[in-house]
Amino acid sequence: KGKTPFKMLSRDFVKNLLMPRKKFDHKGTYGHGLLISGSYGKMGAAILASRASLRSGIGLLTSHIPRLGYQILQTAVPEAMVSIDRSDIIFTEYPDLSQYKAVAIGPGIDKKQNSFRAMVDLLKEVKVPVVIDADAINIIGEHPELKEHLPMGSVFTPHVKEFERLVGESKDSYTRNCMQREFAQKHSICLILKGAYTAIACPNGNCYFNPTGNPGMATAGSGDVLTGIILSLLSQGYPSRIAAIIAVYLHGLAGDLAAEEVGVEALTAGDIISYLPKAWLSLK
Ligand code: AMP
Ligand code: MG
Repeated sequence: KGKTPFKMLSRDFVKNLLMPRKKFDHKGTYGHGLLISGSYGKMGAAILASRASLRSGIGLLTSHIPRLGYQILQTAVPEAMVSIDRSDIIFTEYPDLSQYKAVAIGPGIDKKQNSFRAMVDLLKEVKVPVVIDADAINIIGEHPELKEHLPMGSVFTPHVKEFERLVGESKDSYTRNCMQREFAQKHSICLILKGAYTAIACPNGNCYFNPTGNPGMATAGSGDVLTGIILSLLSQGYPSRIAAIIAVYLHGLAGDLAAEEVGVEALTAGDIISYLPKAWLSLK
């Protein structure tokens, strides 16, 4: 009685969720993640999400991208391994999933028919947590039957428009929050609604609000960075709810540190990544 499902995140709360690294750890300890992203004209999303993953502690990263992005990605992100789609320009297939601890799909993909088909197969087959972002959310929104096969422990990262395509239209932010918590419980997933005071709804009905972040982050690619961070934490073995909380807080914190230096007007998604190291250090 009297216990609310709502909580505002704080630095101390997030800090206490972090797992310390140990002397004899190696890159296998921190997991191998698969990122499915990018398409013709949107390879930047793949670069941003890949870099953000690598700046957040992932052991190994494989970026699955359409053929045209091969040299772009290998040059821009030398730390990432690359898996190439049979398509030159969009997502139509995915590699053998057995070696991955987590998967993220969506940044800069398109929502063509072939991508939808590949997505159906992926959702059926995958046995690890999946981050679902951007057009991957829109694909599920357009094919409601897919909502019945959402992998357990997945993390969805819609902004308001993507949220409405996935869950339905809402008249105000209160109604939206109720719909958000209901959807998360019903499908046993984490549903992150992005914006100022990003809300994280968990399968158990709890809902966390994030105080970090600023309007400088209302800029292209900002969300791709968040997706990369969540993938990284899931690959390291953080449970979905914890990965979502740490990632959202850290992403906003990096954005705040970046804004202190470059200002909100000049801030780019790349700046958020540049300030991830300082954000991590400030959680120690
Ligand atoms: P996307 O729309 O997918 O690029 O995601 C935008 C990202 O930037 C999300 O993580 C938002 O929470 C963040 N963001 C955008 N606008 C604001 C704001 N006014 N205050 C705080 N964070 C924001
Ligand atoms: Mg986005």
